[in-house]
Amino acid sequence: MSKTETPSHFIRNIILEDLRTGKNDGRVQTRFPPEPNGYLHIGHAKSFCLNFGLAVEFKGFCNLRFDDTNPSKEDVEYVESIKSDVRWLGFDWGKREYYTSGYFEQLYQFALQLIKAGKAFVCDLSADQIREYRGTLTEPGENSPYRTRPVEENLSLFGRMRAGEFPNGARTLRAKIDMASPNLNLRDPVMYRILYAIHHRTGDQWCIYPTYDFAHGQSDSIEGITHSICTLEFEDHRPLYDWYLEQLNIHHPQQIEFARLNLNYTVLSKRKLLELVEQRHVTGWDDPRMPTLAGLRRRGYTPQSIRSFCERIGVAKKNSMVDIAMLEHCLREELNRRALRVMGVLRPLRVIIDNYPEKQQEELDAVNNPEDPAMGTRKIPFSRVLYIERDDFREDPPKQFFRLAPGREVRLRYAYIIKCVDFVKDTTTGEVTEVHCTFDPDTKSGSPNAARKVKGTIHWVSAEHSLEAEVRLYDHLFVKPDPENVEEGDDWKNALDPNSLETLTSCRVEPGLADAGPGDRYQFERQGYYCVDSVDSSRGALVFNRIVSLRDTWAKIEKAQKG
Ligand code: ATP
Ligand code: MG
Repeated sequence: MSKTETPSHFIRNIILEDLRTGKNDGRVQTRFPPEPNGYLHIGHAKSFCLNFGLAVEFKGFCNLRFDDTNPSKEDVEYVESIKSDVRWLGFDWGKREYYTSGYFEQLYQFALQLIKAGKAFVCDLSADQIREYRGTLTEPGENSPYRTRPVEENLSLFGRMRAGEFPNGARTLRAKIDMASPNLNLRDPVMYRILYAIHHRTGDQWCIYPTYDFAHGQSDSIEGITHSICTLEFEDHRPLYDWYLEQLNIHHPQQIEFARLNLNYTVLSKRKLLELVEQRHVTGWDDPRMPTLAGLRRRGYTPQSIRSFCERIGVAKKNSMVDIAMLEHCLREELNRRALRVMGVLRPLRVIIDNYPEKQQEELDAVNNPEDPAMGTRKIPFSRVLYIERDDFREDPPKQFFRLAPGREVRLRYAYIIKCVDFVKDTTTGEVTEVHCTFDPDTKSGSPNAARKVKGTIHWVSAEHSLEAEVRLYDHLFVKPDPENVEEGDDWKNALDPNSLETLTSCRVEPGLADAGPGDRYQFERQGYYCVDSVDSSRGALVFNRIVSLRDTWAKIEKAQKG
């Protein structure tokens, strides 16, 4: 889809209107605020493509802000992974790298300001008691007995909280709003809690930490954010976001919510992804089956394919489920244009060309990419003993099977037409171990008299020249399209597909791949797109990941939709 076809969306329209009315002096300042408690996934990519995209489009800026207010779950490993993922997708935050922890002192001052204004109080209720006092959706809550504490006492207690005089969880600082509000977020929400934990940036400097709700809006304000874009689950928090900023009387960004990305056959929740990693259902955050950017990258996804996917899915106000086939389609579209074609045989079957001289070998011309003549041609070796795909031979061919079978002819891609004259079977297993053929020397591809046609063309490699490789075939992580939708008492992990990885170890690829480097992508003709695994592959011990097969289910869906 070209830029001009991309439909506008409501957030862009809000910004256009703000620019028209001169709001924020015509500035557009967004931010992407990940919590460094896990690796980024494709849902986060939607969020930062949107935030960085709008900033670029309107000549503004987008900050990268680590929302690090929960030291017990956060780690520098995650900070580093987030930065490399955002960079990999091609976004540049320049010097605008911020941390909520960098504002801890300022946030503390804001809290003091609210206490002095009689808008916040120190509460001695335990977490359980706070919950009991909160009420329900249908019943109002009850005021905390500590709500009427005098300002001086609140200031002194809050200072002592900071000084480390009270144990974990003993007291909180709460906003004084309305325990009868129909919006539960406004029922005197907690602003600070006591937590003795080592923070990955501030160490043991603090033992009180602001909550997300208190930290987020104020951090937006400090950074001069104009449009604070977040996902729909924060819609109910917006009145609280606005309340803090109004009470503090500081720069007031506009919070705008959009629908998060949901993708079928996977889960997009860091908590769940962490569980998969910790319980070793996958090999790590970068397992090629994971919907994390690290996983997609290792699988072989390109940054451009992810960006065009994020653009294509659009931005809406209503939650929906996106078909993973659409993500795969965006990738195929790009790889079809860019990937070098090669021949790789996944499940090899030996073929002997009986009438081809024993010592002879030839170099044949193969096209690198029929979509792009500029990519040129390469030489591939041909000899008497070859490997073909086991599937491409049938002893008893069904109707419509146009590949190799006894007495049948087939074209070897870029080579000759061969005819099956015999085959050998393992007497115990009954498996075909060898196929004997003859070739027709007049049918060499590209030669003037190669015009003779046969119905099937298959891929192959020369046995002696080909390289052995391991190939990992991946399928969806889950067997159900909506793994998060589980019956009560059932575990979402029960829907994990035990066959999501199949490893083939005796594959053969053409010799030109000897120099293939980590992350290099190819189309194995007739099979799909494959990339050199960046972790386990090495020279002499090649490992390929199947990125995606050639069959494009999304193109079919789209065609059906258009009628
Ligand atoms: P998760 O639910 O995976 O734990 P999160 O919201 O807790 O995600 P954050 O690190 O807080 O993770 O997210 C950073 C930003 O990315 C937030 O603005 C959040 O709204 C956005 N985001 C998270 N998940 C999605 C998603 N599936 N689609 C779009 N945006 C998302
Ligand atoms: Mg979050």
